[in-house]
Amino acid sequence: MRVASVANRLTVLTAEGNPADVARVSNHRFSPDLQAVYERWDEFRDWATDAIPAGRETADAGIAPDPLGPPVPAPRQVFAIGLNYSDHAKEAGLTPPEAPPTFTKFPTCITGPYGELRLPSGSVDWEVELVVVVGRRAHHVKAEDAWEHIAGLTVGQDFSERAVQLAGPAPQFSLGKSFPWYGPIGPWLVTPDEYEDPDDLELSCTVNGEEVQKSRTSQLIFPVPELIARLSAVCPLLPGDLIFTGTPGGVGMARTPRRFLSPGDVVVSRIEGIGEIRQRCVA
Ligand code: ZN
Repeated sequence: MRVASVANRLTVLTAEGNPADVARVSNHRFSPDLQAVYERWDEFRDWATDAIPAGRETADAGIAPDPLGPPVPAPRQVFAIGLNYSDHAKEAGLTPPEAPPTFTKFPTCITGPYGELRLPSGSVDWEVELVVVVGRRAHHVKAEDAWEHIAGLTVGQDFSERAVQLAGPAPQFSLGKSFPWYGPIGPWLVTPDEYEDPDDLELSCTVNGEEVQKSRTSQLIFPVPELIARLSAVCPLLPGDLIFTGTPGGVGMARTPRRFLSPGDVVVSRIEGIGEIRQRCVA
């Protein structure tokens, strides 16, 4: 099942890719509010599976990009993981971590899948990431039970202003990655049952059509179930929370010479089985 925000209303995409407005189809059993649905995720998923013929085909056909918003508009917690692919740890000059380095993207940075990215400086970098959406409160959850607590997966960009991020004396990961529009997600949420193997999806990023990142989520040092186990051992994960799971190698900061985003650049981030998001950079 694919769940989208269309004109700020909770929408399920049918097998043909057409939007089905959940409040109307459910006769207002469910509200149009996307954030609210994660509190009743199991009930909603069971209802939608019966009520809306979702199918498994690619659902890009019938839907225009303009009205799409973030499938999770107001998460209470946004976790993000650094150095979770060994090629990215290597290009950063660091050894792969023994525990997942965790920071937050403050929720005001979350935005929809298509739009502008304002550049406050000349040191903004790209990081395509698989983003996990929590569907059930998770506290002290074991890795083998983790997928039962996940509503679905979406595509995300962990845009990073490197000057702020790396300013001393202690790096400011959370701040440097939380400018407005620095957390685009979408184009929709895809439920775990839609993938042959939800732990092995190709992800890639292009800048102006040139491929700059490409990997598979099977290369994650701490795979999704392990992240749920480790994070929920400390914090209860709440319905509608997000986890940005880390980026593979190929970021601009690690290139020689360094390469950052400029006005006019177009960044496209894709994940197999989900779709793509796209941002155009402006000054
Ligand atoms: Zn990242």
